[in-house]
Parts: sequence; structure tokens; C-alpha cells
Amino acid sequence: MAYLQGEEPLPDNCLFCVTPRSEDAEAHIVHRNRLCYIMLNRFPYNNGHLMIVPYAHVATLEELDAETATELTKLSQLSLRVLREAYDPEGFNLGMNIGNVAGAGIADHVHLHIVPRWGGDTNYMTTTGQVRVIPEWLDQTYERLRPLFDRISTHSGQRTTKSQR
Ligand SMILES: [Zn+2]
Repeated sequence: MAYLQGEEPLPDNCLFCVTPRSEDAEAHIVHRNRLCYIMLNRFPYNNGHLMIVPYAHVATLEELDAETATELTKLSQLSLRVLREAYDPEGFNLGMNIGNVAGAGIADHVHLHIVPRWGGDTNYMTTTGQVRVIPEWLDQTYERLRPLFDRISTHSGQRTTKSQR
């Protein structure tokens, strides 16, 4: 169903450029920052699988300007804080697939995957990897993570301001 609802971008279109034009809840955008946003992966490897996406349409990491690259890292930290509080994972995978040969689903627009991990979740991943995730699951994940992003990003911002004084 999700596949039919426009998962695959048209050749003259880009999902990551189009997504920010939608409402947050509809697009499962859990956080918007100045240069990047964070959304749920519609085909998660695990519960809480996030993607951090620069607004800029660039294909690879070294094309991001320093400011955007810095924000990407800060939002990675924020995401780990949120996911730890929401799901208490035992570890994380963070990574980018750059280029079609590396497995990038959307190779023209760079994005960072954040996947929470638990011991023994391989079976879960194997099972769910074959299954199209139903929208209700993503809605539940969104409802759980969005308030945490709102709260913890505000908190982190205050801490940053203090430390800069
Ligand atoms: Zn794009």
C-alpha cells in the first residue's frame, strides 16, 4: 500500500525534496531544524528507524557545506537521545548509502539512517524486512517520538546556549 502511495520517486521528482512540503504528521516528520529535518523511514529495519535529511538536494556528504554537516551531526545526537528515551535500545547503526551500488534507495539526495538495535533483533529484522509496514505502525511511532523530539530539542538548545556563554 505504501509502495503504491508514492514511495518510489518519479524520475523528475525527489521524495526528500517534496516531503517537507507536507504536514509533519502526514509525512512522519518528527523534527524540523534550520538546515535538515528528521523523518521516519517508511520501510524501517527496526522500530524507530529514522532518517536525517538535509533540505539541500545534494548527492553526497562532501557536497554539504560545513554548517549543514554540523547540524546533521547535532541532529544525530538529538536522535540518539530521543531513541534511548523512547525505546531503550542497546545500540545503534548510523550510516549513509552513497550511490546506487551502495544500496541507496534515493541516490540523488544524501540522507543519514539511524537504526536502533537490540540483542537478538536479527530475527525481527529478517521477518519484517519482507513485509510492507502498514501505515498505522508508523503513525504510532510518530506519536511516540514527536513529543520527545519537541521536548528534548528544546532542552538541548537551552544547554547549548548556556555552554556558549
Ligand atoms: Zn532532493
